[in-house]
Amino acid sequence: MAQHFLLSAESRTLSLKEIYKGGEEKAYDTFKRLRWASTQGEPVCPKCGCLDHYEIPTRRKFKCAACGAQFSVTSGSIFASRKLSFTDLLAAICLFVNGSKGMSSVQFSRDLDVQYKTAFVLSHKLREALSAETKDEILEGEVEIDGAFFGGTVRPTNRVEDRKDRRTKEHQSDRRRVVIALRERAGRTLTFIRHREAEGVEIARARMLAGSKLFADEANHWDALEADYASTRINHSESYSDGHGKHTNMVESYFSRLRRMVVGQHHHVSHKYLYQYANHAAWLEDHRRRSNGGNAFAILGGALNHPVSRIWAGYWQRGS
Ligand SMILES: [Zn+2]
Repeated sequence: MAQHFLLSAESRTLSLKEIYKGGEEKAYDTFKRLRWASTQGEPVCPKCGCLDHYEIPTRRKFKCAACGAQFSVTSGSIFASRKLSFTDLLAAICLFVNGSKGMSSVQFSRDLDVQYKTAFVLSHKLREALSAETKDEILEGEVEIDGAFFGGTVRPTNRVEDRKDRRTKEHQSDRRRVVIALRERAGRTLTFIRHREAEGVEIARARMLAGSKLFADEANHWDALEADYASTRINHSESYSDGHGKHTNMVESYFSRLRRMVVGQHHHVSHKYLYQYANHAAWLEDHRRRSNGGNAFAILGGALNHPVSRIWAGYWQRGS
């Protein structure tokens, strides 16, 4: 039997040991190479794009020879005004990608030995950066669609006579949301947070190329998509797969990862941040066969080329 990818040596190309042994200068070099990939790590002015610069080595800053702007390797990126060292940030990303079922902020803060607030904001910034990969993605070929409810569970009371019918609308929490996922069998997974699964119909029309093949369960609202896409419907009360591609196993595999992430790591998720966890699980699922070093450098490169976060920069200062 073939060895599971996560157990193989190829999946381990980056380790905490290696990051800390390499030290701050080496980590800084990695940041430069990923920020300025097209110039092999040579600084480019973020204001005017000029390559000529003076170095201010003591502060790891540069001054543009053309416009005079001062900048650093993290200027204007999601890591702008960073407080952690380059080694700690790189180690943080290594831990983050190693968590194949996600990473709670409590565990993150303990592993990194930083305040909870620092770990919370850092992990959300990383999730924002990785979500950018699929921002404009349009799916094609064979695409599976499905939805699943998360959050806002109403606990049953102890005494039977006090219990409410949790299936009826008035007894459901207003914090409950449905995660709608579209997964291209040979490509990416896109996720959306809505109140009703039926809202996935419009999403599919917007994010699936005409001529694609759709795989969905028997829920009535997906009928509307049969006019737009060649559709295969799966009746799960009969079987889960016919052995000939008639299934929604890939989108279900995504939901089981998200479910394990929510239950096993976060325990409770606010509907406000559910989109972040949904995207994080999709990213992990889509890159499950890439090495941890490959995943870490993809996140770091993405974060360094992602603008300052509007939501997470100064999050605790705003007291939101
Ligand atoms: Zn400049």
